[in-house]
Amino acid sequence: MNAIINGKIVLEGATVEGMAIRFDKKIRAITTHDRLEKGDTVIDAQGLYVLPGLVDMHIHGYLGEDASDGKPDGIRKMAAGIAKNGVTSWLPTTMTVSMAELEKAFEVIRGVKKESEKDDFDGAQILGINSEGPFINPAKKGAQAAEHILPCDPAFIDKYADLIRVFTVAPEMKGNLAAVRQIHREHPEVLISIGHTSATFDEAQKAVRAGVRHVTHLFNAQTPMMHRDPGVVGAALGDSKLTTELIADTFHVNKALFKIVSELKKDKLVLITDCTRAGGMPDGEYSLGGQPIYVKGIECRLKDGTIAGSVLKLNEAVRNLKQNVSRLPLHKAVRAASLTPAAAIGMDKVKGSIADGKDADFCFADGDMNIFRTILRGRTIYQTEVR
Ligand SMILES: [Zn+2]
Repeated sequence: MNAIINGKIVLEGATVEGMAIRFDKKIRAITTHDRLEKGDTVIDAQGLYVLPGLVDMHIHGYLGEDASDGKPDGIRKMAAGIAKNGVTSWLPTTMTVSMAELEKAFEVIRGVKKESEKDDFDGAQILGINSEGPFINPAKKGAQAAEHILPCDPAFIDKYADLIRVFTVAPEMKGNLAAVRQIHREHPEVLISIGHTSATFDEAQKAVRAGVRHVTHLFNAQTPMMHRDPGVVGAALGDSKLTTELIADTFHVNKALFKIVSELKKDKLVLITDCTRAGGMPDGEYSLGGQPIYVKGIECRLKDGTIAGSVLKLNEAVRNLKQNVSRLPLHKAVRAASLTPAAAIGMDKVKGSIADGKDADFCFADGDMNIFRTILRGRTIYQTEVR
């Protein structure tokens, strides 16, 4: 058995000191140091925070690679790269590309997902796919390619129901509401997300009645909240059935709103990165969904200035939320990047928090959320010196 000692352990409801975690592939006990056993292999956390492994449910790319490329090595490189940011589980996220490219990308991700479930995989585990599009509204396409947008197709979801954990839909488009109803009935395990949408407040509420339970990057590529016209944002903030994604890079959404969103959504807030292939790379020109994007600092844009994904890392998102929401306890900021996304995709029995019987997925972080070690199912997959 392994044991982590000398860490500030971030549990679901509190951060505790003076405790130890005993684990093999699973977490076996959260206990006191004097209850460790002779044969235990001790890992000294050196006073760092011990967090649950982070879960990124919306990430397109990293280190020059993109989940839509259909390249197994690219997916492996992303998995290894994001492990350095404390991520132990993720959903490679595809965009609106041609159906042929999409299906190829899905098959490639299916293959690497199986690899990532094995003990010798050096990267974050793939839990499935987030299919962002192609069932969106061209009027709110953001950086997605208009020519590949399609009406929502229950047969497509049916074909990949073992793989797709979440997909985005614009419910106001012709036929899409009926499709949502059918998919929710046939595959209640698939999370349906409203996004890239011009839906009104009423249309958004109808979509929730049809089975929508999630909101793709709140505020971005959807109808805003106006006082006489509450829009998708109003529906998202007002309905506790909806988990709500936030790109907390301080650029996609002004940081002054983090506190409002955090206080309204409580345990239904999900931090995502929406990261593109420019993530972890120097400033310059990259591509997203077949279009050129220009990256400078924390900003990614198309040529016309449209915001096009991010270069955010999930550990930075936790730091940004914590820093900009006064009196937010660390365990709540962490939950938004671990337990809440795990629960949204139905994986919270095994992933998302430090609790007995769950997978032994951890990362060690300092107070600024710099990551020093990442452990997946009991095995260290990333480690760097504590300075
Ligand atoms: Zn996205």
